[in-house]
Amino acid sequence: MNRGVSNGRGRAGVWLRRALVGFGVLAGGGVAAYVLVNNALSVPPYDGQESDHFADGRFKNPWPTEEHGFADFLRWKLSAERGPWREWTDARPGPPPPPRVEGGRLRVTYVNHATTLIQLDGLNVLTDPVWSERASPFKWAGPKRVRPPGLRFEDLPHIDAVVISHNHYDHMDVETLRRLKEVHNPRFFVGLGNAPVLERAGAGAATELDWWQSASLGGGVEVVGVPAQHFSGRSLRDRNRALWCGYVIKGPSGVVYFAGDTAAAPHFGQIRERYGPPRLALLPIGAYLPRWFMRAVHVSPDEAVAAHDALGARTSVGIHFGTFPLADDGETEAVETLRRALPAGREDFWVLDFGEGRDVP
Ligand code: ZN
Ligand code: ZN
Repeated sequence: MNRGVSNGRGRAGVWLRRALVGFGVLAGGGVAAYVLVNNALSVPPYDGQESDHFADGRFKNPWPTEEHGFADFLRWKLSAERGPWREWTDARPGPPPPPRVEGGRLRVTYVNHATTLIQLDGLNVLTDPVWSERASPFKWAGPKRVRPPGLRFEDLPHIDAVVISHNHYDHMDVETLRRLKEVHNPRFFVGLGNAPVLERAGAGAATELDWWQSASLGGGVEVVGVPAQHFSGRSLRDRNRALWCGYVIKGPSGVVYFAGDTAAAPHFGQIRERYGPPRLALLPIGAYLPRWFMRAVHVSPDEAVAAHDALGARTSVGIHFGTFPLADDGETEAVETLRRALPAGREDFWVLDFGEGRDVP
């Protein structure tokens, strides 16, 4: 009896040891995979000069910000109530844009999400180009597009320059950047610390800009990196190692401002002070819910209208909606909320169709 019991205990002990070893191997494998994946995805440490927004290896916002850590992220995900998104809408691509636009004309074409084509002064500039199926480091997981890009990649005119606001996957899509490099060989512009990501991905060299730093595109056109209230990261371990920004493109036919991703902050007024009221502002309106979590990083449609006013923009175009389900707002909610926020009869804040191009007054 005793022997039997002790045998039973012995067998249980063996199983327990095996289970523990198995668990240890799995956990060890998991930790190793976690470390490897994070290392592969992470931006290398930036070793440039310290400044008022870069110290101890991390960049920081121009104004104090609510920090939401992983616990808040979990709290959001566990309580999330996402508005409706269609699985897929098969839309025909827009018409090919003109090869070039000159003589003081300014043309904007909305592709999808934060991707737009800006044509001015004989130059073609893309913002945050994303043609991939997912905004994710993985081909099999992560936010998946619900419609095709509004322009076929093959229908793009020759691209002279690409401005990339920050390294989140819905803005810095290295597969698209590699394709652009192959077909158009444009100049790439990124915030400080992001060039190695492009280099490593085979998209070639990129010019890094700090906030308020400019570079010439030729023909009297300049591109300037400008502040944004946001954050960066491509893995769980490289938060704020590389800079996030917006861009001002300034040429003989006027000033264009591309906000990238940003929360509401005083930078809109500062940009107007330095460069004058933009002829065109590209302002994000989507991925804004729930406000308690998103207001630190993304403007709401109402705040986008306030930004338009602070900038004194002659025309604004809403971006960052209806392409990838990223937050709790439904597919059409940002546009509906924007329309409600605009006083009746006001026609200086546009929502373009996917693939639609328009001349800007
Ligand atoms: Zn972002
Ligand atoms: Zn974004």
